[in-house]
This record gives sequence, C-alpha cells and structure tokens, in this order.
Amino acid sequence: MVVVSNLGYPRLGENREWKKLIESYWSGDISQEELDQESKVLRLANLKKQVDAGVDYIPVGDFSLYDHILDLSFQFGIIPKRFAKEEKDLDLYFAIARGDKDHVASSMKKWFNTNYHYIVPEWSKTKPHLTSNHLLELYREAREVVGEKAKPVIVGPVTFVALSSGVQDFTAAVKNLLPLYKHIFKDLVNAGASYIQVDEPIFVTDEGADLVEAAKCVYSYFAKEVPEAKLIFQTYFEALIDAKELSQLPVAAFGLDFVHGLEENLEAILSGLFADKVIFAGVVDGRNVWSSDFIKTTELLKAIQENVAEVVVQPSCSLLHVPVTTKNETDLDPVLKNGLSFADEKLVEIKLLAEKLKGIDNPAYTQHIQNFDKLQAADFRNVVLENLDNVPTQRHLDYSQRQLLQQERLGLPILPTTTIGSFPQSPEIRRKRLSWKRGEISEEEYKEYIKSEISRWIKIQEDLGLDVLVHGEFERVDMVEFFGQKLAGFTTTKFGWVQSYGSRAVKPPIIYGDVKHIQPLTVEETVYAQSLTSRPVKGMLTGPITITNWSFERTDISRAQLFNQIGLAIKDEIQLLENAGIAIIQVDEAALREGLPLRKSKQQAYLDDAIHAFRIATSSVKDETQIHTHMCYSKFDEIIDSIRELDADVISIETSRSHGDIIESFETATYPLGIGLGVYDIHSPRVPTKEEVIANIERPLVQLSLGQFWVNPDCGLKTRREPETLAALKILVEATQEVRAKFGKA
Ligand code: GLN
Ligand code: ZN
Repeated sequence: MVVVSNLGYPRLGENREWKKLIESYWSGDISQEELDQESKVLRLANLKKQVDAGVDYIPVGDFSLYDHILDLSFQFGIIPKRFAKEEKDLDLYFAIARGDKDHVASSMKKWFNTNYHYIVPEWSKTKPHLTSNHLLELYREAREVVGEKAKPVIVGPVTFVALSSGVQDFTAAVKNLLPLYKHIFKDLVNAGASYIQVDEPIFVTDEGADLVEAAKCVYSYFAKEVPEAKLIFQTYFEALIDAKELSQLPVAAFGLDFVHGLEENLEAILSGLFADKVIFAGVVDGRNVWSSDFIKTTELLKAIQENVAEVVVQPSCSLLHVPVTTKNETDLDPVLKNGLSFADEKLVEIKLLAEKLKGIDNPAYTQHIQNFDKLQAADFRNVVLENLDNVPTQRHLDYSQRQLLQQERLGLPILPTTTIGSFPQSPEIRRKRLSWKRGEISEEEYKEYIKSEISRWIKIQEDLGLDVLVHGEFERVDMVEFFGQKLAGFTTTKFGWVQSYGSRAVKPPIIYGDVKHIQPLTVEETVYAQSLTSRPVKGMLTGPITITNWSFERTDISRAQLFNQIGLAIKDEIQLLENAGIAIIQVDEAALREGLPLRKSKQQAYLDDAIHAFRIATSSVKDETQIHTHMCYSKFDEIIDSIRELDADVISIETSRSHGDIIESFETATYPLGIGLGVYDIHSPRVPTKEEVIANIERPLVQLSLGQFWVNPDCGLKTRREPETLAALKILVEATQEVRAKFGKA
C-alpha cells in the first residue's frame, strides 16, 4: 500500500481570506467570537480540500492565527517577561507578535532559508508549563471532519529550543519541555491519533550536528514514556545532517526531503540505513511552483521503496511556502499554466505519483508528463546567456576616494538622515490602483495620482528635515513583483500569495524565461521626485539576489546564471537613472542573507555568485554616484566579509527587531563603508521615544565613526500608517539633531 501525506497547508486562503479576517479583528471590525468562528470555517475548508484530494495523512496544527512557533511558545507559557500578566488571552498573543503601546514585540526571524518569519520564543526564569492543549483541541475538531486521516503536527523540542532566545542551559530547557510534549502526545493518542509529525528541521543544519545527542535523549524518552505515540521525525530544506546516527532514533517513521537534500538523503537510503524504517518521502518541491518531473520522480520513489520498509509520498516541506491554486490564474499562457503547480496541484501530484507506484495507470499521470514536456520545449524558455567579459565588476576608485567625490557632490551633514524607500500606501492608493486595473480610471489618471503622492511626500520629507529623500514607491505593490512586471522573462500571478510574516503576504513573480531589461523601470517616478527638490532623491531598485530569492525561479538554468541575467538588467536601469542625473541609487538586497544555504559547505559558493551579480549591477557607475544597499534583519556575523565585498558605498541594515544582537557584528568588526543601522522598528505600529532613538544612534558610535554612520528607520514604511510614520520620523530627525549637537557639529 502506498499512501500520501501532507505536511502543512497554506493558511492564507485562495483569496487571502485569512489575512483579511485577522486584520479585521485587529482593526476592531469583528469580535473575537467572530474571529474564532470564521477561522474555524477556514480551517475546516482546508481540511476538506485535502480529503477531497485523496490525502491520507492530513496535517492538523499547521493552521495558526499568526505563527505556529508563537502558538507553541504560548501553549508552553513561554511569554516574554515584559508581557507578564495573568490572562493568557488572544490580545496578549497578538501583542507579543506585533508589540503594543507599552511593549516592543518579540524578535522575528526567518524560518530557515525561507521567506517565512517566526516569532522567536523568549525564555525567562518561568518554567515552561502547559497553558492549554491547543493541538488536542484542533485535533478533536479535525477528527470530526476527516476522521482518522487527521495527523497532528508539532515542532519538536530540540528545534524549538534551538530557535529560542534567552535559553541559559540548552539541555535543561529541552528537559523541561519533555513532560509537556509527553502530555500532549498522550492526549493525542487517547483522542485517536495515529502518526504524529514532529518537525525537527534543525537536524538539516550544521548546528544540528551538535544536537544529535540531544535528539537521542529526547526520542528515547518519548519511546519509553509514550510508546504508543507513532512519531514521524520530520526534517526538510536539506538532507539529514547525520543520517548514520539519526536513523537509529526510536521513532515510527522519518520524513526526509528528497528535493532540497536529494543527493545525501538518497545516498543514506541506498546505503541501507533506513532499510527497516517507514519513510515519508518528500519528493514534490514544496518551495517552488513548477510541476514535478514525473519520470524522474517515479524512478526516485522506486529507488526509495526498494530500500526501505514502507514509503509514504509527500511534498518536500509544508505547502505554506507556495500559493493555494493555479486554478484562478486565467491570464497565464496555457503552456506555462499547465507547467505550474501550487499547493492544490501538488496534492494531485503526490496522489498520482503514489498511484503510479502501486501500478495504477491514471491518464492524468500521462497528461501531466505531456504538460511538463510542453513547457520545457516552449520558445519562451530558450536560454541565451550574455557574454560578461566586458562588464565591469569593480568601481574605478576605492571607497575612501569615491567617498570624497560623493561628499563633494552631495554636501550632506554628519549623520545624514534618510528612509529605506517606501512610505505608507494609503487605502486611497490601493483604491486607485484597483480602479485603474479594472479599467475604471485611465492610466493617466492613475499616474497623476501617484505623482501627487510623490509630490506630497517630497514636501513632507523636506518639512521633516530629512537629508536624503525618496520618492516613496507608491507605484509598487511589492518590491519584487513590480520589477517582475516590467522585466522580460517574468510573469506575475493574480492570486499567487504566500505568507511572509503574520498577516503579511507577498506575491512572488515567476521567472520562466531569460531575464532582460526591455523598458525603463523606475526612471519616470524618480526623475519626477528629483525635479521637486534640491535635496538628493535616492533611486530605488531591487537587487538581483533579492529578485531571485523572492521570485519563484526557473530551475533549468543555474542560480548563478540567473543572478547574472538579473544583475545585467539592473545595471541597465542604473545607467538610465545615472544619465538622468540621479546621484544616489539604492539596490536593495533585503533577501541576500535568507538565500544563504543552510550548510556551511555550500555557503561560500552562493555568496561569491551573489557578490558577482551585485557588482555586475553596480560597478559601472561613475565614482561620484553613490550606491546604497539595504538588507533585512537576520544573523549577519558570518557573512559580514561578503557584505563588505559588495562594495556598496552605504548599507542600511534592519536591526531593531533583534534587540541588538544583529548589530553587534557591525559594531565589533571593522566595517569601513557607510552604514545605517536602523534606529527604530518599523514592524510595530509603536512610535519610538526620542531617548530610544538617541540610544540607538549613539550605541554603535562607540565602534563606528561619525563620518560613516547614517540614521534611518530599519526597513521600508509601506506597511505603516501615515500618522505613526510622521510621528516616528519627526522623532528620528530630532534625535539626530540632538546627537549632532552633542558631538559639537551641525
Ligand atoms: N526599499 C524597500 C522599501 O522600503 C525595501 C523593503 C525591504 O527591505 N523589505 O519598501
Ligand atoms: Zn528591509
């Protein structure tokens, strides 16, 4: 018998119903009761869909009102000390995630190498305890709809602690959690659970190599204390770090990723390590949108099947990372559309693959292969790689000399103030955009409106006293999608949303062919903004690595080739901006860090390719043109050398949400170029106090020189509302003025 399993289903809904629901609770439009009812409707609909698709093990507990890691912290009573209060209610839950008037939110970090962000569990002295058995409630609810097919999903104790902050003693922390997990497992088994998926993705990372002993202790404990629980030790995003040892864990099954960790995982299987084990084989890519190569995948499944006790077919990871369905993408070229596979289509794929393995010949299987072949043969997939020999990858002068020329041209004060690019997108802008897309207003009218916003905000920035201005990115819904709409080789979808953090979703474009610059991308808005002011306006572009990492990329050429193609396209745009007189151009690489391979052994090659492509994009400018870049929060210490090698004149870094640990690397390493360490957190609606901002400016000045430091918020302001943005920027400028005064210069 070959059965199929799923690891997690997208929360957002076909039409982002989930997002809308949660935001309407935040804005007070619906009560908690309504939120509970409506979220149940969404949850059950997701389950129902999966039963209908023929999934045998349907994930339960993957649904969340914000983030599944926060759910777990909450369930374990791991509440940041500053939020301590008796009532563990929903408002507390959201306050930890988003911050409130009196408290800064918990840190947010990228979920491994994805663009999903989890809320970092903050441990304090309070011993973990079960505040509720949330998973049991969800399991009971699910059983009523899908019966025995319900499969509880929970992040395992080792990964949970590894992702936490404030843990003093790792082993003790894990030990404290074990009785709680045991309790949850027991309850689930008593309620009828068969397999329980325990996600331990930390065991694909280098860090996991040091945690193998911990895994042995933990899973022996469960085997002894709850022998009746059938645990699946689930990993994804890479191969198991130490298959030899981990394959010995006393668990009922192993879930392995045969897409992103194919070579190593397959080798472990073929060497017989899992000969007597049940393997949940992740063979359909849960991270990308291309339909599977059935011929190859069927061969792979056969090879696995021959070497293990039993095989279950599943996606490589939770489908959280792909959109819901291609069904509503009616504008796509049919050949392309039929070559795509979002969550619902992936469920069909795993079903067909499992049937094939059982020897069932479904015409849909053959049809799938035909569609796949048609896509590969399509004209638009032709590969033309430009010759890069004559493209500069080195600025003429080195930084110290360039800086003088740039300063002469720009005449900025010390501690120049700026923002990261976007300003709040008012409901009015969204309405206008919608009317324009629906054809209710003309393109001219829409463009005029965008211009009026640009001009309003140029005035606002001048009045606030900011030094380097931006046009505000009002014409962009998203910093990657926008470029996807204008460059050749990309297509965008109508409903292809993916959760990024909380209710925030992005719609990654799909790169299906050769990328080329075929029209100006940003020139009109930037030049218009610059015409309104004598202060410098920064041109605002997204860099090649970020465009790739935040798109669904084609996989039939190498990543390096793709980076370079996009690098060349961005270079063309930079040239246009420079020729139009723009003196500062920012090339955002918000997602550079998140694309870093999980294994050290693969990281340098990625970084080298990334640096190369960034330098293709940015090295052709004149020395007096200042190149900025911006990166979002994450751990920077191990890539700081590569960041330096980008040779960007100024980098701004998102820092506030990490409560200081990120910026340490920039403070202690001798970073020689211009740098702005975000001085307040833009992910929270909270307006910072002047004292906080001053402290955030002064703290790094111990290590960094006055001449290299920039003052800016820590990311774009698109998601904020106008009043809080104005209030925060006013404080930012005032704080800067105070620090300038203190240092005795203006
Ligand atoms: N320039 C972009 C903005 O301000 C950068 C966003 C980001 O880093 N995610 O919106
Ligand atoms: Zn950012």
